[in-house]
Amino acid sequence: METSTEGVAQPADADAAQADPPSAAEPTTTAEPATAERPTTTAGAAPATPAPETETDPQPGTETKPEAEAPRPVAIPPASLSPSRAGDFMQCPLLYRFRVIDRLPEKPSEAATRGTLVHAVLERLFDAPAAERTAPRAKSLVPGQWDRLRETRPEVVDLFADDPEGERLARWLGEAEQLVERWFTLEDPTRLEPVERELFVEAVLDSGLKLRGIIDRVDVAPTGEVRIVDYKTGKAPRPEYAEGALFQMKFYALVVWRLKNVVPRRLQLVYLGSGDVLTYDPVLADLERVERKLHALWEAIREATETGDWRPRPTKLCGWCDHQAHCPEFGGTPPPYPLPVRGAGPDPVGGPGVVPRAEQAVPVRAAESGGVPQGRMGPD
Ligand code: SF4
Repeated sequence: METSTEGVAQPADADAAQADPPSAAEPTTTAEPATAERPTTTAGAAPATPAPETETDPQPGTETKPEAEAPRPVAIPPASLSPSRAGDFMQCPLLYRFRVIDRLPEKPSEAATRGTLVHAVLERLFDAPAAERTAPRAKSLVPGQWDRLRETRPEVVDLFADDPEGERLARWLGEAEQLVERWFTLEDPTRLEPVERELFVEAVLDSGLKLRGIIDRVDVAPTGEVRIVDYKTGKAPRPEYAEGALFQMKFYALVVWRLKNVVPRRLQLVYLGSGDVLTYDPVLADLERVERKLHALWEAIREATETGDWRPRPTKLCGWCDHQAHCPEFGGTPPPYPLPVRGAGPDPVGGPGVVPRAEQAVPVRAAESGGVPQGRMGPD
């Protein structure tokens, strides 16, 4: 694994096809990241069918109504898997249930919203001719993209409802500008011509498992080599967590491989928070391994869906979880399980849909190597 920008796939040929700029919505920043508001495109390296992700792949932080006021959406079994939701399940099956099955609302956070804003700025900067993609220009995009974000996601305004003087907002916008500026120390957008930005991808594996996600940027070198790039507004993980951080990228690489029969030459994570670039050059065996892992994960999700056995797995990341009030680990009670339960016996304490920790014999694992992606709920 490398942690430098040396030897990366060549910047895309300026003549390479450039996708029409997506018109709607914003990128996400949580590790994950995908939202129904994010734009989709079918052009370029990874054609995809735009489809709502909200049914099975809700974006954390996009809901603002108090839970008491929000009508519960109709629950449906999960039908596809994204990197973010796969990460949720590996981190905590009960969290996955709350987000995908129950679709409990979550409050936007300053960190996640700042990430969304920075992603939007970096995406829009490529609208400009190459020579004009400068740091001052990128920073100048911040206020306008913030205005647009407030229009498309009015709930983010609540973040600064208690800031009538605008001091905290000004500081927050300044932090976003700093992150944007740091990007220029890591990449040179005047030498890049992405073939895709905020690319929605979706692929159905031979097993029928549908994978989907949104790739921040796709570069294609004149030689045809594909580089997948993802921006993170947080800090680079410690080396022992790098594998978890790369899981999302290998997921995308698998989707691209299945769609185009091309193994991406390079996966690149750009950490704006710490000024690091993490790269990995996958081989076919990596993608096959990820595919097996996802199949095992999907089987575990299907089993949990049918049995209602969603186990809490407390970690330090619980501090980022919006659902402690519903979590038995914190004295809460999950909402009634909204799906039919296979072979339902007596309800466990807390009702169907949750298994008390004391009765959990074996933690649900995603199987195989790779570990648990860290920081799924924190800022990316
Ligand atoms: S508080 Fe922790 S254990 Fe409970 S649902 Fe959230 S992540 Fe899982």
